[in-house]
Amino acid sequence: GRKFVVGGNWKMNGDKNQIFEIISNLKEASLDSNVEVVLGIPAIYLAYVKSIVPDNIGIAAQNCWKAEKGAFTGEISPAMIKDIGVDWVILGHSERRTIFGETDELIAAKVDHALESGLKVIACIGETLEERESGITDQVVFKQTKALIPAIGNNWNNVVLAYEPVWAIGTGKTATPKQAQEIHATLRKWLSTNVSEDVANSIRIQYGGSVTASNARELGACPDIDGFLVGGASLKPEFVDIVNATK
Ligand code: 13P
Repeated sequence: GRKFVVGGNWKMNGDKNQIFEIISNLKEASLDSNVEVVLGIPAIYLAYVKSIVPDNIGIAAQNCWKAEKGAFTGEISPAMIKDIGVDWVILGHSERRTIFGETDELIAAKVDHALESGLKVIACIGETLEERESGITDQVVFKQTKALIPAIGNNWNNVVLAYEPVWAIGTGKTATPKQAQEIHATLRKWLSTNVSEDVANSIRIQYGGSVTASNARELGACPDIDGFLVGGASLKPEFVDIVNATK
């Protein structure tokens, strides 16, 4: 089976006090041991979180560059992320795509280099409202995923896909379990044709977009939803209930 994986993407939020509180709260909570938990931390706080986080919680950078080192002012490399003991990176988030202009091609190059450097990757995909309303959701998600295939190569076991419909991110408008299940199943089927049946069966596909403690149970019960990528609610105590939603 696919181990349920819940990511908390803090985005550009938190300060040392709030972070200490969040981690303390998670330490005290009893988290379902059948669920993998990964927190996406602002780069500047990765080392701090690494120093206080318990072993049962993984951590991720929220972005990285596509080279090991060099003249790339302001960037961080997978080698640096690994160097401080962090195992994961989130790549291709819709905010990186829309606000920072990251293309499928750039995201693929980052995924390629991150995996080659030994990081595990949460790769994000998802359509905008306009794309959904024009009925091209499947094509958009296929195109975004297709761009990743050569970059991932034989490293599918180190990848989690996060399906995050852009219209559901930070809007309080969650995809219904039916909508989410439908696209997850469609994507899995597409992967079996375009990559392999093995990858299709083993790849974990998270749902992201306004996940809360009140909708997590129903979403998490869908057969092709293998976890969540949680934004706003990952900064709140309810994150514990989201992690435990499939218990
Ligand atoms: P929200 O949970 O705040 O909608 O954010 C989802 C997201 O973008 C996680 O990466």
